[in-house]
Amino acid sequence: MKVKHWRLGVPRALFYYYYAPWWETFLENLGAEVVVSPPTSKEILDLGVGLAVAEACLPVKVYYGHAAWLAPRVEALFVPRLVSVEQKSFICPKLMGLPDMLRAAIKDCPPVIAPTVDLARRPKEGLRAAIRATARALGAGNREALQAAALAGARYREWLARQREGGPYLGNSVPVGNWEQPPLTIGGGAPVDYPLKHGSRPVADTDISLAVGIVGHSYLLYDRYLGMDIPGKVARLGGRVVLPENIDPTLGEAACRQLPKRLYWTLGRKIMGTALHLMEKEEIAGLIHLTAFGCGPDSLVGDLAERYAHRLGKPFLLLTLDEQTGEAGVATRLEAFMDMLSRRRSA
Ligand code: SF4
Repeated sequence: MKVKHWRLGVPRALFYYYYAPWWETFLENLGAEVVVSPPTSKEILDLGVGLAVAEACLPVKVYYGHAAWLAPRVEALFVPRLVSVEQKSFICPKLMGLPDMLRAAIKDCPPVIAPTVDLARRPKEGLRAAIRATARALGAGNREALQAAALAGARYREWLARQREGGPYLGNSVPVGNWEQPPLTIGGGAPVDYPLKHGSRPVADTDISLAVGIVGHSYLLYDRYLGMDIPGKVARLGGRVVLPENIDPTLGEAACRQLPKRLYWTLGRKIMGTALHLMEKEEIAGLIHLTAFGCGPDSLVGDLAERYAHRLGKPFLLLTLDEQTGEAGVATRLEAFMDMLSRRRSA
């Protein structure tokens, strides 16, 4: 059988920030030419805001923008329908309908390859079914699919291990074209040079090791436009940034057991578990929680995390972003927070 080499668009948004190496390796090994949209920009945000329903959260609006940017440039879009990626937990319902909403919203939308991933209902077969469905859509057979998935899994595990050690976040993935996002150094890497704005000043040299935990969805933390590069800003203010990807997920899961009820949202539990784990650590001076306006799970987790932080006496800053949020206001709040942490440390 002659396999067609699809020019396949992958939006650089939402779960791309969790699974980029897996998806890229898998699709490329099935013979696809993977085209990842460029990093989020004003053009992409405006595209998304113009297409998405007003009630959608900011990351979903941005996803629309990436998909719309790709639509005229590719032969098909890869938009997995993520229902659950683990047992007894679910992905936010806003993501389940993404493939259908894109088909309806984007004019001349190319075919959308949308394998369903539902490991809550089909724990054993769910992933294999999604792998086979994608391969079928690309014209590949089951054997190639399983081989490609094995390579993707190996690369993904290596990527996760590197992140835990503080390696560059996306430096190990394979963005296509000239749009590679400069690697974001995390987990105590050297702060990069940054022009401080609004009369801000870095905290004193002696506070250079002020450890600050920053939690939130990866698609906010690592999308530098959407998330305003909060980890970078904190690092440039002298903070030693600790991110969810630096933490062994089993520690977050263990920390979550102290909650009176299990959180059923996979990402919400990951964020809450990381926040709880970090706020119990003496060396963490404070926590920042980055949330998206219009996010239901975030409104619950943000409030819960703040209550636990108050109980433990850990400084906590909740930053909620939407398309109107001004960078100046965020920078001022960050500077005030870092100053406060520095003064507490001195005291
Ligand atoms: S979890 Fe929140 S931010 Fe993420 S897609 Fe759902 S509503 Fe949007």
